[in-house]
Amino acid sequence: MKLNICHLYPDLLDLYGDRGNILALAARCRWRGIEPLIQQASLGDDLDFRGMDILFLGGGSDREQGLLVRDLMRREEELRRAIEEGLVVLSICGGYQMLGEYYQMASGEKIQGLGILDVWTIAGAKRLIGNVVVEIDERVLSVDSDQSIGMRASASKLKTLVGFENHSGKTYLGEGVSPLGKVLFGNGNNGDDRAEGVRYRNVFGTYLHGPLLPKNPHFADLLLELAIQRRGPLTRLVELDDHMEELAHQAMVKRLLKQA
Ligand code: GLN
Repeated sequence: MKLNICHLYPDLLDLYGDRGNILALAARCRWRGIEPLIQQASLGDDLDFRGMDILFLGGGSDREQGLLVRDLMRREEELRRAIEEGLVVLSICGGYQMLGEYYQMASGEKIQGLGILDVWTIAGAKRLIGNVVVEIDERVLSVDSDQSIGMRASASKLKTLVGFENHSGKTYLGEGVSPLGKVLFGNGNNGDDRAEGVRYRNVFGTYLHGPLLPKNPHFADLLLELAIQRRGPLTRLVELDDHMEELAHQAMVKRLLKQA
């Protein structure tokens, strides 16, 4: 089996080594005998969203977000259609913000978003920076949209997400979307409502850099399983020995929650 993974704007949205998420997805495919076909694309490149299995957008500074917005806006209709057909998307911080209605920067200037996610972002007075621990809402991080199949975390021991945040944008969620979980340490979406991230259909947004996936193998496998299930509903991923990843994850949770 081959899996088509697209890294969009790797030259502009790659803060804090977010490309490490692509490396983690590719490794977890190869360890299972799945061939990952990694496509990098940026401004002006032709894209076939409907031919992709996973789309990844990393984080970036306000400047980079302003540079790519026009290019991203011209892709809105095709991306929206692919998302409604179940395309798996992982978007980090700036990439996450760009899928929402808008991002109003500290200057007051608004960067128009795609409006695919019912979220909006307004820059706060201070940057939200530091480590984050999130208690997963397993109804949201589930393989099956009607939550009939528990998420990978029920197979894995991990019930949290860990990562690192650095953003001035404070993101608020509208009616049609759910947060990935509750913040136990750090700020998350906005530092006010204790929510972190978002899910809409198979689109995931989060402020967790790190990169996110190497220390959150259960989240990586959820993305892979959702992508593979679109190929054949009964296809399941072979479990991997995530002993080292789980030790790294739990070490962060223990260290940070002791501080809480
Ligand atoms: N520029 C955006 C902000 O400051 C996103 C930052 C990021 O991607 N880390 O909120």
